[in-house]
Amino acid sequence: MPDRVHAISARWLWCGPGRLRQDAWVVVEAGRVREVCGRPPHDALRHDPGPGLVLPGLVNAHTHLELSFLAGAVPPQGDFIDWVRGLVSSRPGYDREKARSAAREAARLTARQGIALVGDISNTGRAAWAWQEAGVSALTFIEAVGPARSQPPPPRAQWESGILVATGVAAHAPYSVPAPRLQALKHLAGATVMSIHLAETRAEVEFFRGRGGEGRRMEEFLELRGMRREELELAADTPLGHLLALGVVDRRTLLVHGVQLTPAELEQVAATGASLCPCPRSNLALTGRTLEVPAALAAGVNLALGTDSLASAPDLDLWNEIRELTRLYPSLDPEAVLTMATLGGARALGWEEHFGRIAPGTTAALAFVPLEGVGRREVLEAAAHGQTAGPPQGLAFAVAAEPLEASARMR
Ligand SMILES: [Zn+2]
Repeated sequence: MPDRVHAISARWLWCGPGRLRQDAWVVVEAGRVREVCGRPPHDALRHDPGPGLVLPGLVNAHTHLELSFLAGAVPPQGDFIDWVRGLVSSRPGYDREKARSAAREAARLTARQGIALVGDISNTGRAAWAWQEAGVSALTFIEAVGPARSQPPPPRAQWESGILVATGVAAHAPYSVPAPRLQALKHLAGATVMSIHLAETRAEVEFFRGRGGEGRRMEEFLELRGMRREELELAADTPLGHLLALGVVDRRTLLVHGVQLTPAELEQVAATGASLCPCPRSNLALTGRTLEVPAALAAGVNLALGTDSLASAPDLDLWNEIRELTRLYPSLDPEAVLTMATLGGARALGWEEHFGRIAPGTTAALAFVPLEGVGRREVLEAAAHGQTAGPPQGLAFAVAAEPLEASARMR
């Protein structure tokens, strides 16, 4: 049976940077965008989500779904090291069934909110099923931490019923993985993206510098975890300098957080072509600040956006992250913020051919923001500032031709 052609009506349609259209249709076939046009094909099944903005499904470039069961377990109070200690000590209470249902619920909500693709960090790979079940494409980074015990599996990707199911390589952080292993992991990632947490806290920066009370606390914590400073083979006195010296930062590197990066370091990141992914709400809760987003944009860094996990963020709703960003930086260009949450994230994960914009051949996982009474100049601003007429929703069209999220779609 041939796939049914769908046409989604859009009062406003944002296909990507510089491409806002009015009164257009997105034509979808076999789970992919066929075209954007002014009049739907006569044989298409028409969908009208109502007045508002249709845009590419969002990309949450950094989360940890498998930590969902830790929601509220150790409330972050501005001290990263205390928080990690608390998390580590709460692990003995692990309940497999509770962890599974927490992951299932978090993934299900993500799909309803119009998030099409996630970059998910996992130490086990055991939560990937939840994304697939929810119909959310996922690049699950298998994270290495500490000295090499066993190497993570090589990267892999396949499409299943229109959903991307991929694994990638992540190193936890420059202070928790010895230099030779970092290089081996980057080599293993090959042409795919390697993810790594970077410059999240002042403690991390002081640890590299080898002085300061916070750095000393970090060192003590690592020693308790069986990781000695000498083993790391530090090649520079800053976290970024270390990674640059090891040659592991390039356009296929995703640097997560970057809270402590200086303007000069942002220029260095831009020169490598690497991407940066702040997680503003988690960063604020754990460290009291977040990446200097306007400076990073001015430096020309490709920026993504992430929520981090439910252990440090109140939810995995990327729309809330967008609102937080525009609250922190009210004069940011709303289109730049939406780009971070779509194409920027897709680029950061290495999947920009398929996600992050609406164009022939991209996946038909779209998002819809109900908006009322806005003109052309206010559309993107209203979406980025959360001035909406209802919660944003997912409009997902599976290869099998039926919308995956019928309930969310037409409410
Ligand atoms: Zn993380």
